[in-house]
Amino acid sequence: MTLTPNNSGWIEVICGSMFSGKTEELIRRIRRAEIAKMNTIIFKPQIDDRYSSSHVVSHNQSKLASKLVKNSQEILDESSKMDVIGIDEAQFFDDDIVKVCQSLANDNKRVVVAGLDTDYLGKPFGPVPALMCEADYLDKLTAICMQCGNPASYSQRLTQDSEQVVIGETDIYEARCRNCFEAPKK
Ligand code: ZN
Repeated sequence: MTLTPNNSGWIEVICGSMFSGKTEELIRRIRRAEIAKMNTIIFKPQIDDRYSSSHVVSHNQSKLASKLVKNSQEILDESSKMDVIGIDEAQFFDDDIVKVCQSLANDNKRVVVAGLDTDYLGKPFGPVPALMCEADYLDKLTAICMQCGNPASYSQRLTQDSEQVVIGETDIYEARCRNCFEAPKK
């Protein structure tokens, strides 16, 4: 992204499977905004308490301070003085997150949202598909298939749980390509 809008906000969406580097990319963008002396903040939903409650942490242990929020409205309430707003794990937010991001961008803010585009069934996950439609800039990242080494777009759950949300890491999930992904039977 070499050209960015003047006198306007915008929405960037970073999506992809688990282990595709979404959080790492979110952290990289927010760090660069900090270096540029912008006011930045990162939010994440309260549901996700892995690693650290007050930080966003990528799989390679890169981390930045973040604020836990219970719902998307809280993001709006906490962002008035910010120039750049990061949101991690967007798939766990309520559907109003789309309106919240629109509202922030309309208020001349830069919004950087990271989230899983598909769940363990390979189906659209929460509000992320709608956010992808609203994005001015969209990056879909791939992981590496842990079976064959191809680029991977799916998050394979290794347990039999059938809840949509099961928090875990390499103990429960692995990245898989289209050929190696096995959609769980309902
Ligand atoms: Zn594969």
